[in-house]
Amino acid sequence: MSNERVLIAGAGPVGLVAAAHLARAGVPVTVFEEGADLSIESRASTFHPPTLDMLDALGAAGPLIAQGLKAPTFQYRTKKHGLLAEFDFAAISDATKHPYRVQSEQSKLTRILFEHMRGHPNFSLQFGSRVVGVDQDASGIDVTVERGGRSEVQRGRYLIGADGASSTVRRSLGIEFEGFTWPDRLLVVSTPFDFFSVISGLSSVSYVADPQRWYFLLQIPGLWRAMFLVNEDASDERVQTEEFAQSLMADVVPGITNYQIAHTTLYKVHQRVAKTFRLGRAFLIGDAAHINNPLGGMGMNGGIHDAVNLSERLVAVWHGQAGEAELDRFDKQRRLVTLEYIQNYTIQNKKNLESSGEEFGQSLRAIAADPARTRDYLLRVSMIASLARAQELG
Ligand SMILES: Cc1cc2nc3c(=O)[nH]c(=O)nc-3n(C[C@H](O)[C@H](O)[C@H](O)COP(=O)(O)OP(=O)(O)OC[C@H]3O[C@@H](n4cnc5c(N)ncnc54)[C@H](O)[C@@H]3O)c2cc1C
Repeated sequence: MSNERVLIAGAGPVGLVAAAHLARAGVPVTVFEEGADLSIESRASTFHPPTLDMLDALGAAGPLIAQGLKAPTFQYRTKKHGLLAEFDFAAISDATKHPYRVQSEQSKLTRILFEHMRGHPNFSLQFGSRVVGVDQDASGIDVTVERGGRSEVQRGRYLIGADGASSTVRRSLGIEFEGFTWPDRLLVVSTPFDFFSVISGLSSVSYVADPQRWYFLLQIPGLWRAMFLVNEDASDERVQTEEFAQSLMADVVPGITNYQIAHTTLYKVHQRVAKTFRLGRAFLIGDAAHINNPLGGMGMNGGIHDAVNLSERLVAVWHGQAGEAELDRFDKQRRLVTLEYIQNYTIQNKKNLESSGEEFGQSLRAIAADPARTRDYLLRVSMIASLARAQELG
């Protein structure tokens, strides 16, 4: 294998977007994935409009839309008063080719990208290959990879750490992951139950505020996902029982109990951002660089925005169209918008949902009643504003 390549740790949605972008632009990539196959874990399910625009450029938006469902509107509700406000992405159809969210699991995207790239001369993906160490010098970067009980060193010109929240690349580089972990956990309960038949006027994406227990409902093909914050002092084992999930679900629609439950998953919730996204020839993108609560669906989307921002710069440097300093702009732009937008928005969204919804509802109604404010709001919620802000940073 030639050393003249970009190495990528992690074949999640973010690592594979970077790999596809680079390989298609003439930059050879090798991706190391510790799993024996692509992950099937049920995590992100929302793709925002500008992310779809980016995936379109890779030929992946069409197949993703075909396997998912379009959600042109989203709502805020309270348990007590019902609908607070509904927003329609049609108001920003001049700013994106995709004025809707697409609800589809991230595991669909990774498979689409892998199928597209498999066999491409610039693309190689090695499964069962765990990155365990990183060492760099003036001319290249070495990663130690463990595979089948043996360890070997692979060299490349650059390394992208897209190896998720517990990133070995980030740890090997000694980069701090600043922030905090919420004491609450998040329980995701999936059911084939048809909520449209019992909640009048429901959107495929609905956030429901409540000071005791907020939740949100997201529709994906064939299932609804209900996400609840678990703040009581119950063990992880107890929280993951069918009985516990049924007790939370019984609160969603009065009188409806005993749901068919497809699966439940429990997550810890963090708000953390790496101290830097670049150290010499190594870069961090996606969850390796930042993690946040899933309210607003910004983690993977922000990670894909990192992947495209970095890949565009690496392509320019690789082909001699820009100097190395170009790569610092990735860190400057993406780290700042992560702090300014993604972290602030997701923390505020959690606080809003934990409230009674009175004050928050008033502010949402005022936004919904004013077309100019609705537009600004949708540009922020869809993350288009964060991308514009990144460009302003130069
Ligand atoms: C319940 C829930 C709902 C969510 N919903 C949304 C949503 O709707 N929208 C959204 O934008 N985000 C959402 N997120 C966040 C989203 O899931 C993550 O931001 C996303 O998975 C990040 O992608 P990634 O590729 O950076 O990391 P990952 O998906 O974690 O992928 C990392 C990959 O690296 C591999 N790996 C790890 N370590 C190594 C190593 N040392 N060597 C080689 N390979 C390695 C792993 O096996 C994995 O395949 C949600 C998260 C949760 C928990």
